[in-house]
Amino acid sequence: MKLSNEVREAVQLRAHGACEYCRLPQEASILPHQVDHIIGRQHRGSDDVANLCLCCVHCNLKKGPNIASIDPENGAVVALYHPRKHSWHEHFSAARDGTIEGLTSEGRATVQLLDMNDEDRARLRALLLRRNRYP
Ligand SMILES: [Zn+2]
Repeated sequence: MKLSNEVREAVQLRAHGACEYCRLPQEASILPHQVDHIIGRQHRGSDDVANLCLCCVHCNLKKGPNIASIDPENGAVVALYHPRKHSWHEHFSAARDGTIEGLTSEGRATVQLLDMNDEDRARLRALLLRRNRYP
């Protein structure tokens, strides 16, 4: 079932137009941000706004239906960062060079799975940081 425009708008407003994983502002992206099912439909995740988040195209493609990954520091299988249940600043930190550091197991696994520190993405974030437009 397709999400209603009302639901999409509510998700965008709640997120203040920024990707809820990498925090990229919509205005810094050529492609429109998408609405992501945090727990994917194939895992029986609902269409309720409590299971939705705003997501840039890059994060959404990398996340796909994943709900867990591996902490690169200790090899543990952990649940991904959950934008509705977790606080971004507890799990991530953005450095001046534009890279995002995972501060927890969930944060590190999410940074790695979503390839948040891809060179182009980090460079764009560094540029936005210098202009006080990030995060
Ligand atoms: Zn993103």
